[in-house]
Amino acid sequence: MANKDERWEDNTDGAWYVDNSCILCSLCVQLAPNNFKESEAGDHDIVFNQPGNDDELKACEDAKSQCPVEAIGNDGE
Ligand code: SF4
Repeated sequence: MANKDERWEDNTDGAWYVDNSCILCSLCVQLAPNNFKESEAGDHDIVFNQPGNDDELKACEDAKSQCPVEAIGNDGE
């Protein structure tokens, strides 16, 4: 389960985030390209856009459930 206290600082503010257990497999970017992208540092992915409609929310939920290391959370602020 993702830990909001370990979220990467370059996630955009809001409920959804990637924490520091991300292994950069890029699955979340494939599933929810409107919301996830690779960080500028190139060593993890981030949430750059909080889901803004039902389709994006569904895509983010898919990414959260399929992330192999459970690095995606939606309990942030
Ligand atoms: S699916 Fe999980 S491990 Fe893979 S890049 Fe996204 S957050 Fe990182």
